[in-house]
Amino acid sequence: MKKEKDEGMTRRDFIKSMGFTFFFTTLIAGTAVLGIKGRDNFSLEKCVNDYICRGCGLVSECGLPQALSYKKATGKEGG
Ligand code: SF4
Repeated sequence: MKKEKDEGMTRRDFIKSMGFTFFFTTLIAGTAVLGIKGRDNFSLEKCVNDYICRGCGLVSECGLPQALSYKKATGKEGG
């Protein structure tokens, strides 16, 4: 008679699950880091609102010439 294995998680299953957990955690963390870095570079190097700074959500952190002119003209130059 065949003995069934349903004694819970085996060592092999545990190592597999740890591998998957490590892999997906690294993947998510890497994606988050690249997203944050990409956002910083993107907002500083490329306009996302057709250079219409009025009402643009990035105007306070944007360093493009149009944004700087807009902030100077409107007196919204912060620190
Ligand atoms: S603040 Fe102005 S220049 Fe900067 S992303 Fe927005 S619209 Fe473009």
